[in-house]
Amino acid sequence: MLSQPSNSLLGLNLRELTNLALGSAQPAYRGQQLFDALYRQRIDRLDQVSTLPLDYRARLAEEGWGVGLPKIARQFVSSDGTIRYLVELSDGETVETVWMPEGDGGERGDGSEAGDEIEAAADVEHVERVMVRRSTICVSSQVGCAVNCKFCFTALLGVKRNLEAGEIVGQIAAVLRDRGVDPPLQRVNLVFMGMGEPFLNYDNFMKSVRLLVEGVGIPESRMTVSTAGIVPRIRDFGQEPVRPKLAISLNGSNDALRSAVMPLNRKWNLAELMKAAREFPLRTRERMTFEYVLIEGVNDAPEQAREVVELVRGMRARINLIALNPGTELPYRTPEQERVVAFREILVAAGIPAFVRRPRGRDIFAACGQLKKTMEVSPRST
Ligand code: SAH
Repeated sequence: MLSQPSNSLLGLNLRELTNLALGSAQPAYRGQQLFDALYRQRIDRLDQVSTLPLDYRARLAEEGWGVGLPKIARQFVSSDGTIRYLVELSDGETVETVWMPEGDGGERGDGSEAGDEIEAAADVEHVERVMVRRSTICVSSQVGCAVNCKFCFTALLGVKRNLEAGEIVGQIAAVLRDRGVDPPLQRVNLVFMGMGEPFLNYDNFMKSVRLLVEGVGIPESRMTVSTAGIVPRIRDFGQEPVRPKLAISLNGSNDALRSAVMPLNRKWNLAELMKAAREFPLRTRERMTFEYVLIEGVNDAPEQAREVVELVRGMRARINLIALNPGTELPYRTPEQERVVAFREILVAAGIPAFVRRPRGRDIFAACGQLKKTMEVSPRST
């Protein structure tokens, strides 16, 4: 019986895989074969890489190499079709990854809304519905989170560790396998909005993005990363040649409010954050997204909507409003729908595109900010 592989191939890029092959006196193209098997085919065992000679597969295994695909430990299915996966890493830590069929994948490259194409395609005969369906995977970047936002469940865990690039890509590979979905033929959006702060695990996050673009075949235009507002990394991110779209979690319309719900605002305040946002080099037709979690009686008043208007005035921005997903461990409540609508109308009247995010998978604790190891709950499990 072979011992558990200790080295994970998933997470290595083409250059690293090529060097690995060369190190075993294999031809350089073995690197490309491994790359395709890992990211394009998304194999889960080395012996499935039929393009590699048997003796090389055996040698990799002897050296302790394995694919390193994380295991789906549990999955919870929501009445709205959302699936929350508990993904187990090689050291036994777990993170959560969420599948949202026809989810709120954010805006399309052309600035229109995600649902448009589904409706348009409904008239077209012979178009496989699955071809145009845009499912969204919400991906975690850390085990836990260090940012400590007062309304977020992941914050209650603290941060345990960063995820490796292979563990970030691995979540997506595991979910695509489970769903039987094959990009680029079948479209998926990725949102890096799960557990953790991607910009506090910047290098691994960016490496995973490149592997997803080059290997899995998901275009960067279908990816959005959300940050709590790590200003120096926002600036670095703007310089990346290949990068997802950027969303910034605003959540407060002035410094006092924002610091109360997001203590990191004391380190990088709104003036610094908005300066970085204004200087961010947007691509043609790209917009900056701001997310704003509406918390009853805290940041959901009309006056605060008017402050948001002033903050983003003149920017190529859109605002996603999220009514707080509540939970008993949190001292906050979710606003009435009318408050949410009124807040949005003030933004829209000022010419700012603003959208109310549908809560997805609330019944299985899969909605924004609800991700943590909610093993104590017992939703419908498959
Ligand atoms: N750390 C990153 C990404 C993870 S959070 C960030 O802060 O942006 C993803 C989004 O969920 C953020 O916009 C965050 O403000 C929001 N969120 C967190 N807790 C929430 C809750 N309880 N209800 C609704 N949205 C929440």
